[in-house]
Amino acid sequence: MAGNRKYGFMRGNASGRNGSGVAKPFYCFACDKNHSASVEKVGISETGEVICNKQYLKMMAAKFEAQKNQIVGYGKLLSKRHDVMMLGVDGLNARVEFVKCAFEYDLVKEITSGGDCQRQFSSCFEMNDAELVIAEVIKASGKKYWLRYSLIKNLGMTLFKSWEDTATAC
Ligand SMILES: [Zn+2]
Repeated sequence: MAGNRKYGFMRGNASGRNGSGVAKPFYCFACDKNHSASVEKVGISETGEVICNKQYLKMMAAKFEAQKNQIVGYGKLLSKRHDVMMLGVDGLNARVEFVKCAFEYDLVKEITSGGDCQRQFSSCFEMNDAELVIAEVIKASGKKYWLRYSLIKNLGMTLFKSWEDTATAC
């Protein structure tokens, strides 16, 4: 995993994983709760957050699965791209799925740098229900740390925080 000095955070997962230092209870961003000191924790450099080892393994599995299946994810985006232009609830659902799919398969960079889905990706936030789309995506990321990870990595922490604020306000 690439280190990220921006948050002054990552020191080879030293915060617990290597057994260095005294273990303390900690807040787990993946479980959204505190864990006791006996739970193994992992610092995630890309998000600057700490999660428990169980969620870390789950996240890595989801990450590898997504990377292995990017072609499947791209196919899903292609097949949904016309639906995102629909009005109403069906359109909203399609937009939520489209945006989730782009982040879950780690295809955001790919599709926002041109190609068949670029316009549709922008459209997901231009159909007068962007707040609802964002709220649903943020809600889903609360249940799946890999999605949160992908959101933070692709949006940057500042924009991610404003998405969280948008979701809270909804
Ligand atoms: Zn946890």
